[in-house]
Amino acid sequence: MLAVRTQSIVPPMSTTVQHSIDAKREVYFREQQETVYRNTDKLFVPCLIIQWLFGVLIAVWVTPRTWVGEQSETHPHVWAALFLGALIAAFPIVLAWRMPGQAATRHSIAIAQMLAGSLLIHLTGGRIETHFHVFGSLAFLSFYRDWRVLATASFVVVADHFLRGILWPESIYGVINASVWRTMEHAGWVVVEDIFLFFAIRQAHQEMRRMAGKKAALEALNDEVESRVIMRTRELAASEERFRMLSSTAPVGIFQTDADGNCFYTNQRWTEISGLSEQESLGMNWSKAILLEDRERVLKEWQNATQGGREYLCEYRMLWPNNEQRWVLARAKAMFSAQGDFIGHVGTAEDITFRKHHETEIAQARDSALESVRLKSEFLANVSHEIRTPMNAVIGMIGLLLDTSLTPQQRKFATTVHKSAETLLTLLNDILDFSKIEAGKLTFEVDDFDLQETVENTLDLLADSAHAKNLELIGFLKPGTPRYLRGDPGRLRQVLVNLIHNAIKFTEQGEVVLSVSLESSDGADQLIRFEVTDTGIGIDSETQAKLFQAFTQADGSGTRKYGGTGLGLAISRRLVELMNGRIGIRSALGEGSTFWFTACMEIASPPFACNRIDQASLAGLRVLTVDDNVTNATMLHHQLENWGMRDSHALHADEAMRLLHAAVAAGDPFRLAILDMQMPDVSGLTLACRIQADKTLADTRLIMLTSLGARLDPRSLREAGILECLLKPVKQARLFECIARVFNDLSDSKNAAGTWKDLEVLPAKPHNLQILVAEDNPVNQKVVLFLLKKLGYIAHIAADGLEVLAALKRTCYDIIFMDCQMPEMDGYEATRCIREQELLSPSRTYIVALTANSMNGDREKCIEAGMDDYLPKPLRQDDLVAAIQRYVDGRG
Ligand code: ADP
Repeated sequence: MLAVRTQSIVPPMSTTVQHSIDAKREVYFREQQETVYRNTDKLFVPCLIIQWLFGVLIAVWVTPRTWVGEQSETHPHVWAALFLGALIAAFPIVLAWRMPGQAATRHSIAIAQMLAGSLLIHLTGGRIETHFHVFGSLAFLSFYRDWRVLATASFVVVADHFLRGILWPESIYGVINASVWRTMEHAGWVVVEDIFLFFAIRQAHQEMRRMAGKKAALEALNDEVESRVIMRTRELAASEERFRMLSSTAPVGIFQTDADGNCFYTNQRWTEISGLSEQESLGMNWSKAILLEDRERVLKEWQNATQGGREYLCEYRMLWPNNEQRWVLARAKAMFSAQGDFIGHVGTAEDITFRKHHETEIAQARDSALESVRLKSEFLANVSHEIRTPMNAVIGMIGLLLDTSLTPQQRKFATTVHKSAETLLTLLNDILDFSKIEAGKLTFEVDDFDLQETVENTLDLLADSAHAKNLELIGFLKPGTPRYLRGDPGRLRQVLVNLIHNAIKFTEQGEVVLSVSLESSDGADQLIRFEVTDTGIGIDSETQAKLFQAFTQADGSGTRKYGGTGLGLAISRRLVELMNGRIGIRSALGEGSTFWFTACMEIASPPFACNRIDQASLAGLRVLTVDDNVTNATMLHHQLENWGMRDSHALHADEAMRLLHAAVAAGDPFRLAILDMQMPDVSGLTLACRIQADKTLADTRLIMLTSLGARLDPRSLREAGILECLLKPVKQARLFECIARVFNDLSDSKNAAGTWKDLEVLPAKPHNLQILVAEDNPVNQKVVLFLLKKLGYIAHIAADGLEVLAALKRTCYDIIFMDCQMPEMDGYEATRCIREQELLSPSRTYIVALTANSMNGDREKCIEAGMDDYLPKPLRQDDLVAAIQRYVDGRG
């Protein structure tokens, strides 16, 4: 048991330790032997005395007297027993008393013991029983556990038997003659006993050694454990000293509590932070230093932490005796015993007053920054509103003025004013956009949209200015570009308009091409690449580097021939970055430029109500495109090829005629020819006339592409056999519809109304509508009234919200154009009142916000107030028509 435990506690002993154990074992063994020697010496003292007395008794009993004649006297045996016996016993007794444990003593005792036996044998006349005294004595002497004592005793016995056997056999064997064999027999028995006793002694020695070894090992273990304990105690003392040092110099307060949450230790810093002495902090007294307002919260939190045996974290204020308040952050970690029982917390307290003050300052600074941002946007909104209101009047009035009959000079002046006002508006919009981006207030709408439609609409917007400069404006989606996407088409259009507008502005002749392709796709995310290439003035590489910074222009120091603010590209770059894309330029001075950007958008599913014309029916159609502009021809080729048609291209009229005739001769005539109107030498119209006149080409139907718009005469087109006419830039969907119509015979000359759709400027047909205009500014009132009048509507006027409500009591209006900011009652308030009143009536007035507020969230604010539509000022005729149309469509 002990050995097992020893093993488990103590690691295997080293050889040195084992040697010292062995040495010690021998020492203990010797000590034990000596003790045995001493004790056995003491044991023999009474034994020798008793033997002596026993000898005297036997002598007195067996032969008390001896007779010589009639004279009797004491037998010499008696004297021998008395004196010789005493002599034999006396010497060893003296030695045992004076020198216990010595070898001489035990050997003397052995000799005396054997001599006493001889005397007894003699006294009994050699009786065999007394011989047994010898065996008994040997057994007794073996108590010494020293075989040498047995040897001495045995020698004495054998010598005695031998000598007396020869000289005096009666004394030893009780016979007159004794052979030497008798001595040998006795000696033999003695040797036999010695052998047994020798083995017994050896066993006893082994046992004693084992016990001594055990004691030595135990002592070694003890020493080891003791030295470890001493070492650990020293380590503990050092560690405690270290902790005390750390604790006393720590910059944070340190405390320790028991499982009930009572504090039993705090360091110097803690007392400094709390303003309490060490004694005052003990138990729950520390809580007295907490500011009264915080105390309940802190104690509750502390109670929860202690009851749950979990960590504690709390910020609170402490009140010093001098009434100064300090902010403290206290943290405490739960401690657990080896058995896993919660035994308390150890924690730190930090003085965070400085930090708290900073936090308050930062919060104040943030609040004032937010406030100034708010004021800035409010200022922007106000400025925007204030500028837009007179701009509305300027643009509106000039528009109306231009519709009146003017002298050429007046018209020139009015046009200049109109252009300047438009430029001013663009500038205003740019600055507003830029400050919105800077303030991080620009939001993106996320909506499903048709990329192709967006691109085409954008081109539509700019088509007039391109055509006015005789520039080809071309745009197309390369095959593989996803058409339906999720994103903000408005912002995308804004970037495209800016780039294309610049391209047109800086190009005097040639073309402006927008190509759209798929750069990469990752699951639903599509990275779309847009490239706007022009054949304009180009930009040198030095200017290119800083082009996308705000207010940078290539000709900034020059004549400012082109105008502009240098904001467009900076805004575009921010917008592109917000669409997770990049923007860049490739250009060389005098060689045109390519502005490119990418935008990341999600793919969207195509709208369900997608009214598709069956493409399969037109697949394989043989088409000839005639255009001197190669880019335009390439774009047409992509589109036609996409629909599975077989197309060829001619650069001019002669080549076209040659190809047409060759196809007829080959028996595979062209079924359709798409002609460009503006070509050098022979125009598209002349070519059409030639084809029309050539009877062999009767199978070839004609479509015309033009950028001349309203300036074309539909009658001459019809006469030239043109079945459809498309305005450039060609929209893919419109082109397909056009071709489909040509081959579905929708376009016979009698049914020309649908055919010339692109060429017609639709007059707004006045509907029978009751319209109220709520506007406080008299000039703007006139602008709206005139615009409406131009469209064929007579409207009433209300100067503020209250007048609107009064007017509604008199007349039931279909549409109210509501200015948002008006005195007395503004547009929002008036709308809310109207919507409330409508809760009780079945009718609902369509309210269109008319506002100079164009900041973020203004549209939402209007819709929230209950309005149905939103028109920003300055008001344009097209917007007005579109808004009325939306109402009519919705009503339908
Ligand atoms: P703005 O056109 O209002 O001056 P932008 O930021 O749109 O501002 O353009 C900055 C400048 O970059 C322009 O003034 C012009 O010098 C140059 N630039 C932009 N696009 C082109 C282009 N397509 N060709 C040549 N120069 C261009």
